[in-house]
Amino acid sequence: MTENPKPLALKFAYGKDLMRDLRKEAKIYDERLEPVQGSAVPNFFGLYKTKIPVKDRFVRIVGCLLLEYCGESVGLFEYLEVPTRALLLKKLRDIHLCGIMHGDFAERNVVMQGDDIRIIDFHHASRHKCGVKMEVAESRRIPKTSDFGCVDLWIHCYDMYIWRSTYLLLC
Ligand SMILES: [Zn+2]
Repeated sequence: MTENPKPLALKFAYGKDLMRDLRKEAKIYDERLEPVQGSAVPNFFGLYKTKIPVKDRFVRIVGCLLLEYCGESVGLFEYLEVPTRALLLKKLRDIHLCGIMHGDFAERNVVMQGDDIRIIDFHHASRHKCGVKMEVAESRRIPKTSDFGCVDLWIHCYDMYIWRSTYLLLC
């Protein structure tokens, strides 16, 4: 037994449909996000399942995803400092480069502990061939989507105001 056990986050699923989502998420952590576990996403320790008796002779499947505990929800993105927002988007870029588009990137799926930030909840994720050609960084200029290379990432960077254009577009 280790002297300083690290807390875990457990995600439960009850029944077939939610189990399918949990299995999908476990597969993504295991097969795609391994390179960014512990940096952009929590460390993943496996999917466990069992059957529990319910009524008469029926049983229900219960699943549990074991992840490293990485803190609580960040709250509203707009309250984060710009460098923190840029760091978060760099992590989202790392996930894209693993071939995964999150599909539900929102405050409820970002957790933080101290300065450490992680993206969680991949059951809406899909495969993605990312064409990003630029680093994600604070800038006073908004790059063209074609120069940036990935529309999904571009939209998140734009929406989170890490590019603070000095120009006002009147149209
Ligand atoms: Zn991308």
